[in-house]
Amino acid sequence: MPGSEDNQGAARSDGEQAGGEFDLVVIGGGPGGYAAALYAASAGMSVAVVEKDKVGGTCLHRGCVPAKELLETASVLRTVAGAKEFGIDAGQPVVDLAASQERKQKVVSHVHRGLSGLMRARGITTFEGTGVLHPGRVIRIDDGTELSGRNVVVSTGSVPRTLPGFDVDGTTVLTSDEVLALDRVPGRVAVIGGGAIGCEFASLLADLGSQVTILEALPSLLAGCDKDVVAVVGRSFRRRGIVVRTGVSIEGREVAEAGTRVLIGGGDAVEVDAVVVSIGRRPLSENVLADGTGVAVDDRGFVVVDDHMRTGAEGVYALGDLVNTPQLAHVAFAEAIVAVKDMLGEPAVPVDYERIPWAIYCHPEVAFAGLTEEAARARGIDVVVKTDPFGGNSRARILGETDGLVKVVAERAPGAQGERAGRILGVHMVGPWATEQLGQGYLSVNWEATVDEVAAFVQPHPTLSEAFGETVLAMTGRSLHVS
Ligand SMILES: Cc1cc2nc3c(=O)[nH]c(=O)nc-3n(C[C@H](O)[C@H](O)[C@H](O)COP(=O)(O)OP(=O)(O)OC[C@H]3O[C@@H](n4cnc5c(N)ncnc54)[C@H](O)[C@@H]3O)c2cc1C
Repeated sequence: MPGSEDNQGAARSDGEQAGGEFDLVVIGGGPGGYAAALYAASAGMSVAVVEKDKVGGTCLHRGCVPAKELLETASVLRTVAGAKEFGIDAGQPVVDLAASQERKQKVVSHVHRGLSGLMRARGITTFEGTGVLHPGRVIRIDDGTELSGRNVVVSTGSVPRTLPGFDVDGTTVLTSDEVLALDRVPGRVAVIGGGAIGCEFASLLADLGSQVTILEALPSLLAGCDKDVVAVVGRSFRRRGIVVRTGVSIEGREVAEAGTRVLIGGGDAVEVDAVVVSIGRRPLSENVLADGTGVAVDDRGFVVVDDHMRTGAEGVYALGDLVNTPQLAHVAFAEAIVAVKDMLGEPAVPVDYERIPWAIYCHPEVAFAGLTEEAARARGIDVVVKTDPFGGNSRARILGETDGLVKVVAERAPGAQGERAGRILGVHMVGPWATEQLGQGYLSVNWEATVDEVAAFVQPHPTLSEAFGETVLAMTGRSLHVS
């Protein structure tokens, strides 16, 4: 059914509603799929999107946007709770989760309407239904519609992974899908998995009043982040009463008098009212590819692609969470652009996964791009490192948010003596608005800028971003406030 009210994709005026041939057919209208559609349409291609639920995908409806909206609720709560220090007596704040959920849904619906309208304005035809790719770039939708694409993007995304013995019931065992729809704050929660999403939920639920325990199998939270950054997050979590247990194995669970008991290796257990299983997401590649398409899927279910997102089938691309690259919306956007440029026969620079920006919205926020100190040293690079805590930054003091730091990792300048640094390899931040502050760090890493080049730029005062500028300045061998 093209252009239904729900999906609000546009029915084309050239009579192709009942199927037809397009320059590009996209299966799955999440960030990867809709970005491919928007970019291709802006380049003049005729585009159809097949979406079984709502355009916007996981990110808009069950991921980035609703999660960050609820984290903003937690931030407002912290602000009000700390208002007295600023001379404002707002009383003891009380959370009305139903009202928060309503606001979250308003934000999601607004963005959904905007996206649908944009797709319609670009002349993209949206077909509501489940699509399957057949050989010869033929796409069959479950209502019988048949489409043919001169190019095809398969971007069916991912779903939460689950654990044996932890069947999701929406009340005691939850995945991200259920956490984002909670209508009451559980008293005691175990979050299994201390990665980005697990830490965001732990932070959110602790701020809303839950007693939270994080159970992580690896030796530390936030694998892949710089060690100094992880230490700040761990300290902040512990101060807020979050119990962090790393290096634990989950053996199963049993019914407790109230709630459930999560069984941990070594005979230990944690009794809670709810368990959030946050152990990653698996690609949704089953039932999408008919026999004989020539599209290969690896043993973990990821569609196999080259660095231009091409599958083994001529003209068929795959991207986003469906392929084995970082599962992030902005990575899906970037991959979509690479794929469409390739379709157009234009030179496309593959995504440099090592230098993409990462943003984690727990409190305190984390953001980084490029190599960690550890990773750089492991490669045998002679590095110079400078760290500046937000405690010395006036704006952070003004905000009352001094927990955090900026850390810059650079190559030692060729022939340099002492601590003099050259090219910037990695920028790592934890603290107030770190996710919004990363921009300069991201550009520095990806522009392969040197500390001398970046230090020449003037930072407005008083801003949080001064911490980055002053850290880089200090790496030239001379400094203002940072030693
Ligand atoms: C709680 C949470 C928080 C997150 N936070 C962030 C964040 O802050 N920043 C960030 O960058 N990323 C974040 N992510 C990850 C981000 O949501 C994903 O990386 C992104 O959505 C992947 O986009 P995609 O298009 O590949 O897949 P999806 O968004 O999963 O979209 C796939 C679409 O395909 C549709 N579909 C599936 N099969 C078919 C079929 N056969 N026919 C038709 N349609 C089909 C689905 O309905 C869906 O709409 C978060 C994820 C979660 C779960």
